Amino acid sequence: MTKAIEILQPHEYWLIKQQAFELIKAYHSVNDKQTIEALQTLIKGEIETYFKRAPKLNPYLDKLMVQTLTKEQFLVIFEALKVFVQPMKIPSHKQIQKCFRKVKKLPNLETESIDFRELSYLGFNDGNNNRKYLIRNVNQQFIGLYGQFSPDAQKGHCAICNHISTVAFFLATTKSAGDGTYTKKGNYLCTDSFECNRHISQLEHLEKFWQNFSN
Ligand SMILES: [Zn+2]
Repeated sequence: MTKAIEILQPHEYWLIKQQAFELIKAYHSVNDKQTIEALQTLIKGEIETYFKRAPKLNPYLDKLMVQTLTKEQFLVIFEALKVFVQPMKIPSHKQIQKCFRKVKKLPNLETESIDFRELSYLGFNDGNNNRKYLIRNVNQQFIGLYGQFSPDAQKGHCAICNHISTVAFFLATTKSAGDGTYTKKGNYLCTDSFECNRHISQLEHLEKFWQNFSN
């Protein structure tokens, strides 16, 4: 079997789902033909570039434009699209350790059971210490952030995926600019980082969050 070309980023993959769900909702609730066509044009404009990256991908876009498309049919298409996704680089145990030099005992993470095609970042919790750990791969380097993570979950807005979901308060110590002193910063984040990743359809909020905590 030839290896599929990996040309979609995980967040682009999730954007396709988000946009397709909007289309499908309209297909089954809006009667006005022009409204549907206008929405199709709009959404095509949002995601067309992804499908143009390879001839093999082209037919999938046409399938989304069929007005009888159901959610179930789309999910089959969506699963087939997954082979085109370039997974996040998988960190080794050593690389994870290196991201959190100051931490003596990290929770055991079974990376084999994680689908890295779904991830724009890797996030995991340590329930024993009430901590959350976050890892990204930027410019071929793994970088990490960690902080206290409250066990009190609630409904709210997540600073990374920009969605309303089950969140808890994340509190980290960061170096304040220039003078070397430390300051604490906090944000609400999804309790389940794997679920969080499935909401990430653009990297803007993740970048902003990371920048804020890395400084
Ligand atoms: Zn989230």
